[in-house]
Amino acid sequence: MRVAAHVFCVLVVGAVLVVPAAAASSTRVVVLDPGHDLRANTTTEPIGPGSATRKIKDGGGTHGVVTGLREAELNVRVALRLRRLLDRAGIRVVMTRTNTAGTSIGNVARAGIANRARAALFLRIHADGSTDPATRGTHTLYPALRRGWTDDIYARSKRAAALVQAELGAALGFPDRGLQERSDFTGFNWADVPTILVEMGFMTNPTEDRLLATAAYQQRAASGLCRGTLRFLVRSPAACAKPS
Ligand SMILES: [Zn+2]
Repeated sequence: MRVAAHVFCVLVVGAVLVVPAAAASSTRVVVLDPGHDLRANTTTEPIGPGSATRKIKDGGGTHGVVTGLREAELNVRVALRLRRLLDRAGIRVVMTRTNTAGTSIGNVARAGIANRARAALFLRIHADGSTDPATRGTHTLYPALRRGWTDDIYARSKRAAALVQAELGAALGFPDRGLQERSDFTGFNWADVPTILVEMGFMTNPTEDRLLATAAYQQRAASGLCRGTLRFLVRSPAACAKPS
């Protein structure tokens, strides 16, 4: 009896130790990465771990052809709105930046923030630019498959891209430009966690520039990104609704 009681006791202690660890690991962290910053960063960094190919850290982004709004500022405005929505849905949020005030830290550093946070999703928020003012629409990029760099995050990133593109597209109502794999994005190749980059619209298109510059469309974008993120986390997107 005494031996049996001892064994029982050990099992109970084991169970008590296991439960909090499981609960802690299920806390989901999403890292929001508003692209660019006040100043470009023309120093270079390797496009992936161990690569001899280098790219500049940050060319600086685009700007609104009509409004003059900087892409860096649009990205952070949407990210801050999205943070509020995810907060209320019970998701822990880490931001790579919260204002537009400095020199861009580059993409190895941005991926490092997501990796250290063990993010469930590293969500990179951008708007696009083109030399053709007629080019418009929303698209979402995800890492191409490369052994040693992205094989561990490829399938989950692709799934996140599809879910977020669908929700962001529905929220903004811009043309659907679909999904695109990229092998040349430094921030993807250094990521050890699922990652996508949304291009909300084209700031070089007068229609999309005017709309994206409004608080209403920035909130629409945040709502679509929230819904797609929660779907990826297998949570109900209804939690993204703004309380009345
Ligand atoms: Zn950008």
